[in-house]
Amino acid sequence: MVLEKLGNSLKETLRKITNAVFVDERLVNELIKDIQRALLSADVNVQLVFDLSKAIKNRALEEKAPRGISEREHLIKIVYEELVKLLGGEKAEIKIEKKKPFKIMMVGLFGSGKTTTIGKLGRYYSKRGFKIAAVGLDVHRPAAPEQLEQVCKKAKIESFVKKREKNALKVYKKFEDEYSKFDILIIDTAGRDALSKDLIKEIKELNKAIKPDERILVISGDIGQAAQEQAEEFHKNCGITGVIATKLDGTARGGGALVASATTKANIKFIGVGEKVEDLEEFNPKGFVGRLLGMGDLEALLEKTKEAISEEKVEDLGKKFLKGDFNFIDLYEQMKALRKMGPLNKILDMVPGMGQLKLPKGALEVQDEKLKKWRYALDSMTKEELEDPDILTRSRLERIAKGSGLTVKDVRELLKQYKLAKKMMKSMKGNPNKLMKKFKGKIPGF
Ligand code: GDP
Ligand code: MG
Repeated sequence: MVLEKLGNSLKETLRKITNAVFVDERLVNELIKDIQRALLSADVNVQLVFDLSKAIKNRALEEKAPRGISEREHLIKIVYEELVKLLGGEKAEIKIEKKKPFKIMMVGLFGSGKTTTIGKLGRYYSKRGFKIAAVGLDVHRPAAPEQLEQVCKKAKIESFVKKREKNALKVYKKFEDEYSKFDILIIDTAGRDALSKDLIKEIKELNKAIKPDERILVISGDIGQAAQEQAEEFHKNCGITGVIATKLDGTARGGGALVASATTKANIKFIGVGEKVEDLEEFNPKGFVGRLLGMGDLEALLEKTKEAISEEKVEDLGKKFLKGDFNFIDLYEQMKALRKMGPLNKILDMVPGMGQLKLPKGALEVQDEKLKKWRYALDSMTKEELEDPDILTRSRLERIAKGSGLTVKDVRELLKQYKLAKKMMKSMKGNPNKLMKKFKGKIPGF
């Protein structure tokens, strides 16, 4: 999970609160020291850490816990709320306006992940029904146009590049007639090793000529505290409207990039959590802090599921599934969706309580073979049977087996797994850790 070390220290701190006999100034001071240490080692800016500690301390000592909430719970709530505030508060999406095209310009230093992120954004928005193109204005790195082409091909979006042209604005103008065919145009720009005058001048010029609707600063998570200065500088020169922090998968220093937005007042919109085109997550401060503190984030899980199966169905299905209220078809759809969503450990991070599970590698793979058998068996069932597997008598099982080319044993096994999954999901609200142990290995895919 992103910033796992930070998460672990914060969880440890919260445990201290939970175990404390009462909340007093000593506990608050100890708590603050812990949080400071944790945030500083994740490279969060010193001043911001200081401000945060002060806010937590003031609130903890002044506010009274509302009725029905213990002092300890109230303290945890304060920590949660202040961390959420530090990360920008409410979720802030990019509002795609209905104009053709809506222009998103990516800026950032060399290697921060601009080009890679264009592919990710392209995929993200085309999955949501937008028609996307990217234009490559990195005219300084010889390999840049080719890289953008490849990235766009993977993301299945259009790309416009002109190799060997050294003037960025000329490249932009060359394809100007094409842009209105798209809902969103993403503009790739060149970075530099450092914030040079050269770079600033170029970005300013492009900004003036192109007038992008969004100017997204891409910051690599691994630069730690340097993120602050970068954000300020870019903001001063082209008015940043949003931030995407990348490479949060491989660094413990990502706190720097995540709070860089505090300076620009432009919120983090997405985070990059891997090199692949699907490794992009919407950034929701509440969900993010919730996960850091081990509270789970169902919203993020539902969002991911949305990409894998049809949009209307998903919310309903996700909710039904988590309540244990699902039938055979739902389970099949869910297993299919899980497979499409990619590495299951990433998804499990988002389910409350599941993030802490350390499962052996492969234990969560839904096997293709098993899924095929499900499909065959389901195809041979009547609508009635699909909706209520409890009516499956021996003679019905035999008929299904014959119809699907499976053995009665196969079909029975599927039925057993369905029932186990249902039982497990129903009791998930209890203690997932204990339950997972009990059911592990019995159900493929769980
Ligand atoms: P640009 O110079 O800003 O366009 O940066 P690139 O998009 O070319 O990315 C630089 C390197 O960072 C590439 O090797 C990418 O694969 C890698 N990269 C980008 N985003 C991520 C991410 O979220 N996680 C990881 N692990 N690598 C990333
Ligand atoms: Mg690039």
